[in-house]
Amino acid sequence: MKPFAYLRPGSVAEAVRVSAERPESHFLGGGTNLVDLMKLGVESPGLLIDVSRLPLDLVTPTDDGGLRIGATVRNSDLAAHPVVRERYPALSQALLAGASGQLRNAATTGGNLLQRTRCPYFQDTSKPCNKRAPGTGCPAREGAHRDLAVLGHSPDCVATQPSDMAVALAALDATVHLHGPEGERAVSATEFHRLPGDNPDQDTVIRPGELITEVVLPPPAEGAFSLYRKARDRASYAFALASVAAVLTVRDGRVAHAALAFGGLAHRPWRARAAEDVLRGAPATEETFARAADAELAAAEPLRDNGFKVALARNLAVGALAELTARADRSG
Ligand SMILES: Cc1cc2nc3c(=O)[nH]c(=O)nc-3n(C[C@H](O)[C@H](O)[C@H](O)COP(=O)(O)OP(=O)(O)OC[C@H]3O[C@@H](n4cnc5c(N)ncnc54)[C@H](O)[C@@H]3O)c2cc1C
Ligand code: SF4
Repeated sequence: MKPFAYLRPGSVAEAVRVSAERPESHFLGGGTNLVDLMKLGVESPGLLIDVSRLPLDLVTPTDDGGLRIGATVRNSDLAAHPVVRERYPALSQALLAGASGQLRNAATTGGNLLQRTRCPYFQDTSKPCNKRAPGTGCPAREGAHRDLAVLGHSPDCVATQPSDMAVALAALDATVHLHGPEGERAVSATEFHRLPGDNPDQDTVIRPGELITEVVLPPPAEGAFSLYRKARDRASYAFALASVAAVLTVRDGRVAHAALAFGGLAHRPWRARAAEDVLRGAPATEETFARAADAELAAAEPLRDNGFKVALARNLAVGALAELTARADRSG
């Protein structure tokens, strides 16, 4: 690992100021992704600005009945928070589906959102990769891409976004709050990650020097149930081949509200707007759910070895929506 300097700032303002003054710096959360990438030589920051002890570690209610989650709240604390478990179960389940207990104890909300792709070529500095070294090519497109994207990919990159939490946040209509050299702004979780296009080195819309300070959840939709389901090669310690976060309100046998996001399929959490259009107002039946999933997944462009992900995602979505409907029925 290359030598680097270390700083523990006392405030958000200091963290942002130093970051602007030192473009070769990186913020450090729990370090569970960044430090691994430094060991591999993929990242080599000259300065680590350790933001993990900034006073951004609270989960608090908002005035409108939503929830404010500080950027340094640990993944395990967030998953176990009673309000998250009761009112936003999809978020708690997504967090618990990720990594391991030890990693979740260290990982932060901000760091989880900005973890980098697990594409094997990205992590191997002996290989070309447009994301790590722009203009060098994308060997995954013709190479090992079984785990990679089927939606929204480009000739320059077919990587997937790895965070489970980010998928739940997209379905729950969360906003990501940023503090940077030019002030504060908020970005919807659905728009925070981007598609690769011809500049896959940019994972998100975050600007240089911007710090994630918090994530805000709106109040849950009235009468809604939510869940997160993930398919992976092993029961734990494995990233999603496909996953779904689903939020559903059923009234008188019809879908009153639906929000759906897929993980493991694209360079960003894939908010399934076409599926939601089919669901809204339709009978809450498996036939509707299958039609909705098919409407969304019609846009899929699988690569040579990952076509199985389309059927996997379809089945996850139909199963999740059916389960939420059964819960709504049971609750009367
Ligand atoms: C073996 C293993 C298995 C895993 N399995 C899964 C899985 O199944 N699902 C899943 O979702 N994740 C999984 N993970 C990834 C894990 O969730 C992430 O490593 C973790 O969430 C990153 O959080 P962190 O705080 O440690 O980030 P760090 O490693 O500290 O930082 C990650 C990035 O975020 C930046 N950053 C950190 N905080 C901020 C901030 N507040 N503002 C701006 N930038 C910031 C850093 O500069 C860095 O670029 C796995 C990891 C490992 C090692
Ligand atoms: S898919 Fe993206 S991350 Fe993977 S090799 Fe291609 S450019 Fe690099």
